[in-house]
Amino acid sequence: MEFLPRTLFSPEHDAFREQVRRFCEKEIAPQHSAWEQDHRVPREVWRKAGDNGLLCCWLPEAYGGPGADFLFDVIVCEELGRIGATGPGFALHSGIVAPYIAHYGQESLKQRLLPGMVSGEKIGAIVMTEPGAGSDLAAMRTRAQRLGDKWVISGQKTFITNGQNADVMVVACKTDPERGAKGVSLFVVTADRTGFSRGRNLHKIGQHAQDTAELFFDNVEVPDDCLLGELNQGFRYLMQELAQERLLVSVQCQARAEGAFATTVAYVKERQAFRQRVADFQNTRFKLADLFAHLQAGRAYCDRLLELHLAERLDSVGASAGKLWHSELLDRVTDECVQLHGGYGYMQEYAIARAYVDARIERIYGGTSEIMKEIIARRVCDEGAR
Ligand SMILES: Cc1cc2nc3c(=O)[nH]c(=O)nc-3n(C[C@H](O)[C@H](O)[C@H](O)COP(=O)(O)OP(=O)(O)OC[C@H]3O[C@@H](n4cnc5c(N)ncnc54)[C@H](O)[C@@H]3O)c2cc1C
Repeated sequence: MEFLPRTLFSPEHDAFREQVRRFCEKEIAPQHSAWEQDHRVPREVWRKAGDNGLLCCWLPEAYGGPGADFLFDVIVCEELGRIGATGPGFALHSGIVAPYIAHYGQESLKQRLLPGMVSGEKIGAIVMTEPGAGSDLAAMRTRAQRLGDKWVISGQKTFITNGQNADVMVVACKTDPERGAKGVSLFVVTADRTGFSRGRNLHKIGQHAQDTAELFFDNVEVPDDCLLGELNQGFRYLMQELAQERLLVSVQCQARAEGAFATTVAYVKERQAFRQRVADFQNTRFKLADLFAHLQAGRAYCDRLLELHLAERLDSVGASAGKLWHSELLDRVTDECVQLHGGYGYMQEYAIARAYVDARIERIYGGTSEIMKEIIARRVCDEGAR
């Protein structure tokens, strides 16, 4: 179901969407519940996604990419969202990890890692959060210290998406602990380094096919070219890249909300109560009409954010407001849709039940709703006031 005609995409994008949709229907949807039992997506699926051109679409040919644009990665994110496939962490890999390396990495590092990320041989993760430092990232304790021409990293991270599968990790470390946020640098660590180990695959309440892990760095040595950009500039790079990360949350929330809505419309047309379709109760019709209006607004908002981002005009406040709004939209839509399914909406084998629990984390990761409000409120309340 289309909520508003979309004007962002070219015929090439539309053809690519068809290809991605076929891939999702053949390679993702039928297997997803098995991956939910295993709590991870097999590496083989990543390689197939790479073979089909679904990873790092925006990367230039010089690094093995197709040299397309970011909208191709958006299409992959939307098509996964449409079928409620929360397991494959392709958006994070292509739209968050690869950009850090491409934008701030030295040429030798880019040549070494990016082609494997395009092919799906190498899986990426972004490694910031620690047991004692989530929203307050400046409190992180993981240290990187110089030793001759190398860096030595020690510390512990948690809640890392793609954590069990990851080969290439962008790790935030303190390089000057006395300077708080101004003493943070970003390093790339590959999983083959001595001293790196993974902890448990964490048991979450939703997004069961997604591997989320604790990671440990015990005197892990990395070469000099693994420092991304300049020393102690990590926080600045995080702030720059977080706009795209938050925009991708908007994109996936909108797509998943649309998917949940379509599933529910089909359900209420089939389900009978009091000798009529659930779709015939005025309450159902009004609820769906109301959700439709919200989804239409969400679609217009999301596409406008994408347009601004493509024009390099989406700032941190704009992306934060989008993330806040779309993550709350997804919660609202999935909650209403569970209600319209009745008891079946609470059964795990129903897509809507999974969509409901899968939605909850969107208001937390990538920066909580409260942190989004802090960022927005600073502009609203403080700018020009002091
Ligand atoms: C499934 C999952 C996947 C994740 N993936 C990744 C990943 O790939 N990489 C990664 O680095 N991290 C990841 N995270 C971590 C995630 O980004 C953090 O959980 C999140 O930023 C919140 O940090 P926290 O859990 O430490 O909560 P806390 O920071 O302890 O927050 C607790 C509560 O306090 C509130 N709070 C905190 N500070 C303020 C404030 N200043 N004003 C008002 N309220 C405040 C928060 O909003 C929240 O409600 C993931 C988390 C989960 C659960």
